[in-house]
Amino acid sequence: MRALVFDNALAFRPRHPEPPASSGDTLLRVRQAGICATDLEITKGYMGFRGVLGHEFVADVVQSPDRDLVGRRVAGEINVVCGRCDLCLSGLSAHCRNRTVLGILNRDGAFAEFVRLPAVNLHPIPDSVDDDAATFIEPLAAAFQVLKQIKLDGRKWVTVLGDGRLGLLVAQVLRDANCQVRVIGKHPVKLALCEKWSIRSRPLADIVPRHDQDVVVDCTGSAAGLETAVQMVRPRGTVVLKTTAAAGAPLNLAPVVIDEINVVGSRCGPFREAIRALAEKRIDVASLIHRRMKLEQGVEAMELAARPGVLKVILSCVGA
Ligand SMILES: [Zn+2]
Ligand SMILES: [Zn+2]
Repeated sequence: MRALVFDNALAFRPRHPEPPASSGDTLLRVRQAGICATDLEITKGYMGFRGVLGHEFVADVVQSPDRDLVGRRVAGEINVVCGRCDLCLSGLSAHCRNRTVLGILNRDGAFAEFVRLPAVNLHPIPDSVDDDAATFIEPLAAAFQVLKQIKLDGRKWVTVLGDGRLGLLVAQVLRDANCQVRVIGKHPVKLALCEKWSIRSRPLADIVPRHDQDVVVDCTGSAAGLETAVQMVRPRGTVVLKTTAAAGAPLNLAPVVIDEINVVGSRCGPFREAIRALAEKRIDVASLIHRRMKLEQGVEAMELAARPGVLKVILSCVGA
């Protein structure tokens, strides 16, 4: 099959082996997939991953032990879990000690013609959510996770730091939850999008951190982001870390202690809520699409997605 593979270098392979049939897995034919910061970080060494990249996708079910799924259009949760370890048994299966993660950890991803996932990971997509919107289900679910982790009641000053792909989803999710969120970013085009959504925004260059925000959600994807977030949040406030960066950087944690700041890491989130929000058109994702490219142009597409200011690049995975 055709696939975009990272193995020390990124390459498009026209004849990559299809994912092996392991017991219970469902075979999916990928329609399209989105490139995200995690994919770019992997090509810089994050997670030490080797294999087919890609974890944000919409696909058709080709074969499945769950007959009801065959022929359905689906999105897929990316953590494949054991169901037996202490974390799975205590309801924290996203943190399963034996997990594989689609296109990130020991499992080939969706930048390919075919991908496999267990049937329990799959969510059928209603007709009211088109393929473009469906490609955003995974990252939008991750944005909804912020609402699961922090209480917004009475938190008046909430900032999303970073106007990238994920930051703009998190900002919309917070606004959808009736939060008066503000976005701090670097790119006029993206800050203009915020204006379109009636979300307040400011250029980073205009900001003097004042230790006055109740909540800061760091979506910068840079090591410097946490440092800025810590300077912006008030004592006893909350910083949510939404992005990972491959490069470790020295970090001064003294302000976290002195100001008694809550630092909350945040990763994958609820697919059902993301699908419902898209079906009800509460979140605008169409404006986040920068360009659509073919799987064959995957290397070029990843280079484009890495450029500053570029939003979602979508890879079309269906054959010619
Ligand atoms: Zn992602
Ligand atoms: Zn487990």
